[in-house]
Amino acid sequence: MSRAAVTAMLAPYAANEVNSRGRTHVEPPPLYRGEYQRDRDRIIHCAAFRRLEYKTQVFVNHEGDLFRTRLTHSLEVAQLGRSVARALRLNEDLTEAIALAHDLGHTPFGHSGQHALNECMREHGGFEHNLQSLRVVDVLEERYAEFPGLNLTFETREGILKHCSRENAKKLGELGERFLHNKQPSLEAQLANVADEIAYNNHDVDDGLRYGLLDIEQLMDVELFASEYDALGKRYPQLPLRRRVHETIRHMINRVVVDLIEHSSERLTTLKIKTIDDVRGAKQPLLANTEEIAGQAQTLKQFLRENLYDHYRVRRMSRKAARIIKQLYSAFIEDTRLLPTQYQEKLATDPALRARVIADYIAGMTDRYAIHEHARLFDPAELTWGGEPPV
Ligand code: MG
Repeated sequence: MSRAAVTAMLAPYAANEVNSRGRTHVEPPPLYRGEYQRDRDRIIHCAAFRRLEYKTQVFVNHEGDLFRTRLTHSLEVAQLGRSVARALRLNEDLTEAIALAHDLGHTPFGHSGQHALNECMREHGGFEHNLQSLRVVDVLEERYAEFPGLNLTFETREGILKHCSRENAKKLGELGERFLHNKQPSLEAQLANVADEIAYNNHDVDDGLRYGLLDIEQLMDVELFASEYDALGKRYPQLPLRRRVHETIRHMINRVVVDLIEHSSERLTTLKIKTIDDVRGAKQPLLANTEEIAGQAQTLKQFLRENLYDHYRVRRMSRKAARIIKQLYSAFIEDTRLLPTQYQEKLATDPALRARVIADYIAGMTDRYAIHEHARLFDPAELTWGGEPPV
C-alpha cells in the first residue's frame, strides 16, 4: 500500500506524518517507507533493542526460559497497540515504534535495578528509566554518520517520554512543554502507554501461574480473572488446566481491549475531538477504559503487587540485584579507571556528568552482563578479564 493510501485511512485525530514536527537533524524523506516506519526500523536495528532480550521484566532472565523478558514484553505491547490503533484508525506505525522503544532505557533486573541506580544517582539528578529511554534514542546509540542517537521524529520521542518531573521537563525544550502546561501527547502515545499496562497485567498472571508463584485459588478473588475462569469452566467442563488458564487470560485481554476501543471511540465523538491539536489540548488522556473495567484492572494490578512482585522469591532476587547495581556503581565512582576504555573516554570533570557516564554504562547492561561484571570486579576467583566486549 502506498504511503498516501495509508495516510488516507487515518482518522482526523490520528498522528499524520504530513504534520510531523520532524527530526532534530533534518533528513531527506525515505523513499518507500513512512517516517514512523523508519523510526520503528531504526529502533529494531539498535543495540539497546537487542539487549532487551536479556533484561528482566519481573523475573531474572536465567530463572526460566519461558518467562517474559523485556523484549517479548515489548513485542506484546506492540501487538496490542497495533490492533487497537487499527480499530480506531490511529497511526499503527507510530504506535508500534513507541511500543518497541518504550523500555529501551530500563536497567538490568527490572524495577529493583532502576530503584537502586536511582538511589546511587540521588545527588546527581537521579535515574529514571523513562528519561533514559529517551537518552538512548537521542544520544547513546552510536550508529549514524551525521547525528548522535537515532534522530527519531518528535512524535516517537514524545511517546517514549511517558512521564517526567517538572524539573526535568524544563530542560527538555519542546518535548517537555506538555508536562509544564498539562497537555496530552498524541493518541498513539496514550495507546502505547495503555497497551503496556494491559500487556504486563496479563502476562504476569500467566508467568506467575506457570512458575507456581500464584495459584488459581488466590486469583478467584480477582473479578476480572474469576468471571472468565468460571465461565470457561461451565462451557468446557473437561478442559485441562493449562488450556483453561490460557483461555482465561485471552478472554481477559479481549475484554479490556474491546472496552478500550469502544469507550475511547465514544469519548472522541462526545468530546468532538477533530484534530491532533484537540487531542493535545484535552484536559485528560482520551484513550481510556470504562470506569468498571478500569476498576477491575486496578484490582488485578494491586493483586499482582501484593502477591507476585512482593513474593519472597521475587524479593530475594530483587535484593540481590540491588546489591549488584550498588556495588558496581560504588566501584566505578571510587575509581573510574575500572571502566572500559570507551566509557573512560566519555568522562568529564563535572561530578554529575561523570556519574551519568557510569549510570549509562550500568543501565545498558543486560542481567547476565551485570552479574559477570560484578564477578570480574568482586570475585577473587574470577581472575580472567572475561573476554566479553563492553555493552
Ligand atoms: Mg513496559
